[in-house]
Amino acid sequence: MSSIFDTIHHRLSQAIQCTDIPEDVFNGLRYPEKTLAVNLVIRRDDRSFVNFKAWRCQYDSSRGPTKGGIRFHPSVCMDEVMHLAFLMTIKCAIAGLPFGGAKGGVCVDVKKLSEHELERLARAYIKAFASMVGPDKDIPAPDMYTGGAVLAWMADEFDRIQGKKYRAALTGKPVAMNGSQGRIEATGLGGYYVLNTMIESGLCSGESLKIGFQGFGNVASFCARYLAEDGHRIVAVSDSSACLFCAEGLDVEALIRYKDEQRRFSDYEQEKVEVLEPAEVLTIDCDILAPAALADQIHKDNAGQIKASVILELANAPVTEEADSILQDNNVVVIPDVLANSGGVIVSYFEWVQNRTGDYWQKEYVFERLRKQIEKAAADVVCCKEEYQVESLRTAAYILALKEIAEVIMAKNVK
Ligand code: GLU
Repeated sequence: MSSIFDTIHHRLSQAIQCTDIPEDVFNGLRYPEKTLAVNLVIRRDDRSFVNFKAWRCQYDSSRGPTKGGIRFHPSVCMDEVMHLAFLMTIKCAIAGLPFGGAKGGVCVDVKKLSEHELERLARAYIKAFASMVGPDKDIPAPDMYTGGAVLAWMADEFDRIQGKKYRAALTGKPVAMNGSQGRIEATGLGGYYVLNTMIESGLCSGESLKIGFQGFGNVASFCARYLAEDGHRIVAVSDSSACLFCAEGLDVEALIRYKDEQRRFSDYEQEKVEVLEPAEVLTIDCDILAPAALADQIHKDNAGQIKASVILELANAPVTEEADSILQDNNVVVIPDVLANSGGVIVSYFEWVQNRTGDYWQKEYVFERLRKQIEKAAADVVCCKEEYQVESLRTAAYILALKEIAEVIMAKNVK
């Protein structure tokens, strides 16, 4: 079994060897700066006690205070939190944000908690990690199963602990609690902008595309909506219960309404829509496949069966290292997570700026700034690919990030 650090080190060396920067400059990126593991104990509504393992990892702060979401999921473990914190480090550098990378997580199935229990868990989490958090230290945000409500409880609890109103200590807060307009749409919209930039740069064709989404949560649903509005066909979507397929294109708005009612795709009934096994979404006949669920979904055993010519990584780390080389051999273009899903953290940065200046922006302005910032990041990755003559966009993205990080490290240290 290879450890997450084998993956991290491999991704790093692949990029470093293309540059003339000495490898030891990046020794700080070989292991996280700080990871704290805690045991959170809360009371259930029936007054019994229950405990959950939780983590916060600050991977690298060379470029600024660390930034990254908090994931509530039963599969979360310390290795995953560290890996995701590493990806945030790379992501923030590519997007040109003045942040390092961090991530948090709790091993919990939120579907088994009442709303009050979830609130107690959110408050317990921020209490446990309060000493690590702050607008100039580490700024948490949402991730899987932590939306505006969870962030609102955390922000409120953080202020209570500090005895002061810290608006910029957490992002992804509801608009009513000084959150940013457009944060909810940001990750899906960012993915849409990135795909369009890649189409314009000739990396993939852009005419009436057939697209499949693995997962249909916040990120996939917004991205699907914007693509469908442009006339592309969303031919397949999945959740953990089923994959829905319709060659003529699914009704995205109807699917969003269906999911808002907390219903499973396995119960979906609609003429012309086939209900398949969840994993079938990955091998469906489509042009673009957008994995928007968990990590490691495309691996050595299924990578060879992928029919799409482009993979838009809306999830973090959905393609394993082994799958990457199989896809490369099959000429499948992978638009990497560290670019494709960076819209969320970009708008989190806008929220942090708005919180610090007290100047709040309209949604249209947020979207326009997001478009400019993410299109620049995508164009920079494409330039890097050409300049360094590398095969994959992932390696190009890592080269771009490492150059940014190295510049700061060199500026801080005597030659
Ligand atoms: N959790 C998101 C990500 O993986 C957003 C992080 C943030 O907004 O800080 O990029």
